[in-house]
Amino acid sequence: MKKRIVIIGAGHGGVQAASTLREDGFAGEIVLISDEPDAPYQKPPLSKGYLQGKQTAQAILFRSANYYDDNAIDLRLGVRVDDIHPKEHQISLSDGSKLDYDYLILATGACNRMLHFNGQKAEKVHYLRNFADAKVIEEKIGPAEHIVIIGGGFIGLELAALAVEKDKKVTVIETEDRLMKRVLPEALSNVFYDTHKEHGVEMLLGVSVVDIIDGKKVKLGDGKELETDLVLAGIGVIVETELTENSGISFDNGIVVNTFQQTNIPNVYAIGDCANHYNPFAKKSLRLESVQNAVDQAKVAAAHIMDKPIEYNAVPWFWTNQYHLKLQMAGISFGFDEAIIRQSPKPERFSVYYFKEGQLIAVDSLNRPADHLNARKLLAAGISPTKDQATDFDFKLNDLLPD
Ligand code: FAD
Repeated sequence: MKKRIVIIGAGHGGVQAASTLREDGFAGEIVLISDEPDAPYQKPPLSKGYLQGKQTAQAILFRSANYYDDNAIDLRLGVRVDDIHPKEHQISLSDGSKLDYDYLILATGACNRMLHFNGQKAEKVHYLRNFADAKVIEEKIGPAEHIVIIGGGFIGLELAALAVEKDKKVTVIETEDRLMKRVLPEALSNVFYDTHKEHGVEMLLGVSVVDIIDGKKVKLGDGKELETDLVLAGIGVIVETELTENSGISFDNGIVVNTFQQTNIPNVYAIGDCANHYNPFAKKSLRLESVQNAVDQAKVAAAHIMDKPIEYNAVPWFWTNQYHLKLQMAGISFGFDEAIIRQSPKPERFSVYYFKEGQLIAVDSLNRPADHLNARKLLAAGISPTKDQATDFDFKLNDLLPD
């Protein structure tokens, strides 16, 4: 008999797993443990609504206050899981207690990569990962006049856009020679670069930060120094090894899982940012850092526990909002051999279609939500337009989908 499922982490994956288990009729105990003190909330709105003052803390909660009680989900906030003892089917918590489980789901996410100089962690640099970080940034950003943001990726640029909207002077420093280079083609990087510049952001590309003094002076590799009131950084995330290192759970840049989200240890699953899985769309093992991935993998783990296994085979998708620019990505463009632009008659509205050996593998859509939705359907169905069809704005890509 299935008695107790313990879920570690009450972020996008953890909350979804708990909800799906209940919706699918799991009648045993569900314990949902979070080391954060706050009721479970969504992360994307931290940089897309909350810090702009457009959404309240209440508005970004996943569920109403009574949801967890009503669904007999034992939500334990502000307590960390320190150790996993698979042989005993038990975990140790930071409050000194131990808890037995029949099934364990690790939904522990990732944490910010921190800047280090001369072997020391840089002091007075602020990162955005959770609600507590957002509260600190909210407080610091108010009085700041000049904000230096290290990292021209999604989070750094969303922070830049929201700081500009608050009339701050903003400098973005990026080591690569263009923005979001790891994930975007030049055409898209350029639109974002131009838009940030138009909003007055100072962009320093192809330059590294070599030291930060007291959060007030940023020293660059080219010898320049910037005076600032606030340093923010968004330089990627890593998965902590602490929780799993003595447990025997396989770890390789993340917790290694199979296509049902199972780890190498019986009855232990991992989902979301922390899970290193073979992705059928990328055709390689990787971790994805997206809401979609966390939510879909939660459903896969829940289904497996409920003896209705489904393999993880969801189309990856992601989005970022900066000013009026809404970029939505479907599929994984890694390894593409040709990228084709489908330009709408209006400027700043186009999609990039990525092909590998003639097959569509990903689509990035700028201010073209219909293209994005359509791309997800095409990719899920394994249907590829020809390159001519993709380029021809008058050709209806919808027509390729079965009725
Ligand atoms: P999380 O949601 O990070 O949840 C993990 C939870 O586990 C955390 O609360 C953590 O504190 C807790 N935890 C960790 N270890 C322990 C432990 N030992 N004991 C107890 N609790 C523990 N994705 C998108 O798709 N689109 C976006 O636009 C987007 N924007 C983002 C903006 C910001 C500012 C941030 C920070 C992220 C954004 N993401 C976005 C990424 C997205 O939020 C993550 O991919 C998603 O949250 C992953 O879900 P998860 O459940 O794996 O981890």
